[in-house]
Amino acid sequence: MEIVILLGAPGSGKGTLAVELAKVSGIRHLSSGDLLRAAVKDGTPAGMKAKTFMDTGNLVPDELIAEMIEDVVRADTKTQTLLLDGFPRNVPQAEILAGMMARVGVMLRCALLLDVPDDVVIRRISGRRVCPACGAGFNVDTLPPKQDGICDNCSAELIIRKDDKPETVQHRLEVYAAQTFPLIEYYRGAEKLVTIDGSSDDLAWKTQAALQKIRG
Ligand code: ADP
Repeated sequence: MEIVILLGAPGSGKGTLAVELAKVSGIRHLSSGDLLRAAVKDGTPAGMKAKTFMDTGNLVPDELIAEMIEDVVRADTKTQTLLLDGFPRNVPQAEILAGMMARVGVMLRCALLLDVPDDVVIRRISGRRVCPACGAGFNVDTLPPKQDGICDNCSAELIIRKDDKPETVQHRLEVYAAQTFPLIEYYRGAEKLVTIDGSSDDLAWKTQAALQKIRG
């Protein structure tokens, strides 16, 4: 297995791009946010610990998420390229990940940065809607459901995720600037950083650009 790390601000379109990449290639998408939300929903001990941090837009403790990611990596003997979305989130996590990769015997292919200006990020997050029943994601501007406020897949009423509320979004952007932004220099220094322009809403174009960079 080799690992590709996906970097980008909240609202940069990382999750959407990752899902598309998984669809059109053999890449497996592992989202730390999805992993944590599933643990919260299932009420596992890790999920119960994570919940209070997540609800306030703070990062969960490094060791907690690192152990959950390591469990997934160890259990997966089939995947060739694993796309990590949302982990690492800060330099200490990048160091934990490097140690884990050395122990488990997996290589880092690259860190792919989805580069998006702040104003686009804020507009995208405020339009985000999710389905509480099936997890499908929509955006009132860029990916509207067929019927206003209703999930295309299962007809449940769409909601705004608790951490997408305006007051929490501002805080998440500050957390990103302080904690995650330094990773860009970290991976540039390691000569592993590749960048694509994420400001366009053309998902097919971004997907092809990302694949080219990953396959390099
Ligand atoms: P977004 O990318 O939209 O900020 P995610 O779905 O990736 O949101 O994450 C949601 C929440 O889960 C974060 O606000 C944070 O509390 C927690 N989380 C996800 N990944 C990590 C991580 N690598 N380290 C710490 N906390 C994390």
